[in-house]
Amino acid sequence: MSDRNILVWFRNDLRTEDNEILLEACEKANSIIPVYVFDPRYYKTTTYDTLKTGHLRTQFVIQSVANLKQSLQNLGGDLLVLQGKPEEIIPQIAQKYNADVVYHHREVASEETEISTLVEDALWKFKINLKHFIGHTFYHKEDLPFPIKDIPDIFTTFRKKVERESTVRPCFKSPTKIIIPNNLEASTLPSLADLGFYACADDIAAANFKGGESEGLKRLKYYLWDTDLLKKYKLTRNGLLGMDYSSKLSPWLAAGCLSPRSIYWEIKKYEKERGANDSTYWLIFELLWRDYFRFMFKKHGTKYFLETGFKNKTQDLAPNQIELFELWKKGKTGIPFIDANMIELNQTGFMSNRGRQNVASFLIKDLKVNWVLGAAYFEEKLIDYSPSSNWGNWAYIAGVGNDPREDRYFNIIKQAIDYDPKAEYVKHWLPQLEKIPHNKVHDLYHLSESDLLKYEVKLGDNYPFPIVKLPAYSKY
Ligand SMILES: Cc1cc2nc3c(=O)[nH]c(=O)nc-3n(C[C@H](O)[C@H](O)[C@H](O)COP(=O)(O)OP(=O)(O)OC[C@H]3O[C@@H](n4cnc5c(N)ncnc54)[C@H](O)[C@@H]3O)c2cc1C
Repeated sequence: MSDRNILVWFRNDLRTEDNEILLEACEKANSIIPVYVFDPRYYKTTTYDTLKTGHLRTQFVIQSVANLKQSLQNLGGDLLVLQGKPEEIIPQIAQKYNADVVYHHREVASEETEISTLVEDALWKFKINLKHFIGHTFYHKEDLPFPIKDIPDIFTTFRKKVERESTVRPCFKSPTKIIIPNNLEASTLPSLADLGFYACADDIAAANFKGGESEGLKRLKYYLWDTDLLKKYKLTRNGLLGMDYSSKLSPWLAAGCLSPRSIYWEIKKYEKERGANDSTYWLIFELLWRDYFRFMFKKHGTKYFLETGFKNKTQDLAPNQIELFELWKKGKTGIPFIDANMIELNQTGFMSNRGRQNVASFLIKDLKVNWVLGAAYFEEKLIDYSPSSNWGNWAYIAGVGNDPREDRYFNIIKQAIDYDPKAEYVKHWLPQLEKIPHNKVHDLYHLSESDLLKYEVKLGDNYPFPIVKLPAYSKY
């Protein structure tokens, strides 16, 4: 062991398992200084008039940081939790505790990498190095069969070659002991109010996810080992209602409470012990999308945040798009399948993949609202928000990103009937539609005034008039 102190700067890697920066620091240093910084830039209003982080994700992050602090304390260490700009705080703390080097995991999106550059520059003035590690993906970029600039813009081409030619590295073991400086100052976690939120207990209680590595590991164990839900994932993954139709691992992945690699190896272990099938493969397949969008962000950079994407295409926009956008956000479009999904998002911070595809397509293709506004709204609301997965998927649906098909269109009524045939999902979030028979609820245009009266629905009163006439769906 060399005689040195290493500052471990935690960001979206709030875990002790499979965490290379933590393990290597413990192995190389006499003492480590683990730090997490709540950066005010993540809690401000954006140019789209949305928040960068809404209250539910903020709560999830606070819980995740608290859990990490506890885990480090259990190993004899601690986590210094501070508020401010990392480029001011990290060099200050590094100097105070004589750190020789700072470790962090490299990010891909522009705001995150700009912050690490600022930190790197500020540290450099004190001759302290910022060492970058890779820890957010299945594959290291060095293990891909192509350099980043040559990664195919079509997922299937990428996937086939990667599946053939690349391997996922093993996980790092967890540290068994953390040694911190004797004089490491005490610190406490900020409350939601400290970060500018005045949410009430009910607002928070609606979230189905609790932050932290312990909760993430519990969910992984539940989904694989306790319930064998993994075995039928491919059949259930397009579900809408409840916790069990898909893995629901995304919030813990986004905050780095779980490493994708540890999920990969847990699935492999499961396949060995309980058998492999299409479903066990499919979860890995879906997780590969996550890797793919991160690599795409490295390739195309800030183009994913532009309305024209990397395809340089413009979108048709409605003259009253802001008015339509407001109704979409509130779940007041008069299209039950859309409104139910938006209400779920607003109340819980989560929406299924099927729901996300539909509300995004509806906003872009049916309402003709700038897709960037929708992506910014998701950025505020989603508990599992991650820049590359969110903006990459939105750009895909807007036709300015990685979708190889031109002008893909989701027929919302058909989708609603296919994926919510008994209307259980819609009625769960819109109880005022309860009395409408399930085979009539998805398209209110088909109901006469007398029917609506019979089912106790008064358009414009307890449910909005549809704001757009969707293409008829003949099978309805
Ligand atoms: C418009 C839109 C925005 C999205 N924004 C985000 C986002 O900000 N953060 C996010 O994690 N996912 C995002 N997704 C992808 C996907 O909807 C969620 O990952 C998924 O619904 C999370 O639920 P789950 O963990 O149960 O998923 P599962 O179906 O159990 O999938 C397992 C994991 O695979 C990954 N994954 C699955 N589908 C995708 C995908 N299409 N793109 C990237 N990764 C995927 C996720 O990490 C997910 O946790 C978005 C999709 C759309 C269409």
